[in-house]
Amino acid sequence: MIEKSDLKIIDRVCPVCGSSSDKAQTAVTAHAEPTLDNLQNIFDKWEGFHSKTCYFTYFRCTNCGVLYNNKYFDDDSINLLYSAIADNTSGAPLETHDQTQKEYARILVKAGLQEGALIEIGPDLGLVAKAITDSSKVTELFFVEKNILSHTSLQNISKVIPTEIVTDLELLEQDVMGTAAVLVHVLDHVLLPKATLELLHSHLKSDAKILIVVHNEGSFLRKFMRGLWPPFRLQHPHLFSPKSLKFLLENSGYTNISVKKSVNYMPLRHAYLLAAQSLGLPKNLAKLLPKVNLPLKLGNIVATAQVVG
Ligand SMILES: [Zn+2]
Repeated sequence: MIEKSDLKIIDRVCPVCGSSSDKAQTAVTAHAEPTLDNLQNIFDKWEGFHSKTCYFTYFRCTNCGVLYNNKYFDDDSINLLYSAIADNTSGAPLETHDQTQKEYARILVKAGLQEGALIEIGPDLGLVAKAITDSSKVTELFFVEKNILSHTSLQNISKVIPTEIVTDLELLEQDVMGTAAVLVHVLDHVLLPKATLELLHSHLKSDAKILIVVHNEGSFLRKFMRGLWPPFRLQHPHLFSPKSLKFLLENSGYTNISVKKSVNYMPLRHAYLLAAQSLGLPKNLAKLLPKVNLPLKLGNIVATAQVVG
């Protein structure tokens, strides 16, 4: 059980350009700010229940444009919260997940993926890596996954491709050099996205390709839902737009950057339930909807870039 003394909230500067938080303007304020005096509320909101919004206020950096919390949990607290609390907000059926992952694999191949080692940070069950190994020549797989419950599934992705799994990017052997890297819904969770991309860069060959998926805080959906947009939540210490993501990549050693809105395949009923949860609509109407998968632009962006050669 997590105690109050286990968690620490720290002050942050801009996680992308390092500007002082004095140079950031208030952008999104929650119904209530989390406080260590109400741990149960932190656990509930970490898990993703949205009955009332509760997250740290998001500020916009006036230098690079990224949206970030200037107060957030430290790295140890983040690890503790992820290991202790289940996340109930995913859960679209696997076959539609798979359609989405295949689309990511296709985009990476189109960006000019070359034969070699693939590094994926936060692969979860490894569906993207599986889709990439199915469609191109991957000689080795390296996974960085904190959740050890996923490790067996990751180890079984391929019977023939040598696979190595570590729990932290810093634990990757120094001589590991990839020709590609994938980070799907990772950069908006890690405390130091720039340091993560720079460390990853040291494990990538020149001209290696990288694929990144994040939520798009510049999207129509975010503007429409304002503070109720589901990615405004405790698990996201910052959120990107195409502009701030491009700024981050350019300043972390990557070039030839392309940022596009990504398509997610989702059952219509599941899409309705997510909307109902956020907007307070009756859930039982979902069963009146037909069983179809929608290609939706859910306010995510997919970026590809290349290591500066
Ligand atoms: Zn900044």
